[in-house]
Amino acid sequence: AAWSAAVEAVRTHAPAGRVLLACHVNPDGDALGSMLALAAGLRRLGATGVQASFPGPLEVPGSLAWLPGLDAVVPEDEAWPDPDLLVTLDAASPSRLGALAGRFATARASVVLDHHASNPGFGTVSLVDPDAAATSVLVEELLARLGVPLDPEIAECLYVALVTDTGSFRFDLTTPAVHEMAARLLRAGVRPADVSRRVFDSRPFGAVRLFADVLSRARLEPEAAGGGGLVWTYALLADLAAHGQRPHVLDALIDPVRATAEADVACVLKEAADGSWNVSMRSKGGADVSRVAGALGGGGHRLAAGFTGHGTADEVMAAIRAQL
Ligand code: 5GP
Ligand code: MN
Ligand code: MN
Repeated sequence: AAWSAAVEAVRTHAPAGRVLLACHVNPDGDALGSMLALAAGLRRLGATGVQASFPGPLEVPGSLAWLPGLDAVVPEDEAWPDPDLLVTLDAASPSRLGALAGRFATARASVVLDHHASNPGFGTVSLVDPDAAATSVLVEELLARLGVPLDPEIAECLYVALVTDTGSFRFDLTTPAVHEMAARLLRAGVRPADVSRRVFDSRPFGAVRLFADVLSRARLEPEAAGGGGLVWTYALLADLAAHGQRPHVLDALIDPVRATAEADVACVLKEAADGSWNVSMRSKGGADVSRVAGALGGGGHRLAAGFTGHGTADEVMAAIRAQL
């Protein structure tokens, strides 16, 4: 029923109306890829009034800056104040949409496309599937139901979303259906080696050196996390400055940290401009980090979650240990 309502909402408002697509703050590959694929798909349907936006500065990691259609994304204050249709992507709660969350009150209709289990469903239509490996799984389905064929541009956006949220088809929601979707995207023109190189093997050398500094102070606590082991580190604004890097390069830092064999849980604390910490958490299965992050004001998935921390790094880690 939700699918037909979503298709109906798009068919009603997209052809002639103002359609605002919005994804979460600090967008990742799934947020951007899902949003840009849907924007391109709606334009293929003949929709002329499609805007795409996300809250905060229009800055994305270099690994995603090449995504087709990104140049057409508008800043939040240029997004229509009263769209006919609002579609949100990969946002687990209105707060993840910053000021764009206000558009729920002024839009005529809204569709929420997401895969976070914690998503309460806050649109006129909510399509939330916690079993979906990425929000782009839902976007592919919506485009198919709208009769939009996959072209190389749409497929590339959907693939980036899928390959980033599944950790290159390694994480636990990597089902046969995920590989079947990847196969459809490859048949539509995606070149996986090219995409992987641009997304995963495009780190500036300064960022490699920055990672070295930050990884050199990683701490392993084998008894923490219920005996599963905890590994963590922190990155300061001064570290970024020392290597001439922008904050986004730290998005990928959690991956080498979580590779630690002796730890079930990995945390990276990233100092923000206001003195708070953007905290990334990962689990290999022993802990539900979405509950830890949720208890500390954030959210996410069982094995990948985050929150905004306050105080010193040691205080933030003490709060995490207490929750674990
Ligand atoms: P990452 O560590 O890659 O930034 O985020 C991992 C997961 O946690 C993502 O699914 C994201 O949606 C969620 N997440 C990260 N930071 C926050 C936050 O501050 N608040 C909430 N609600 N979720 C977050
Ligand atoms: Mn995301
Ligand atoms: Mn996602």
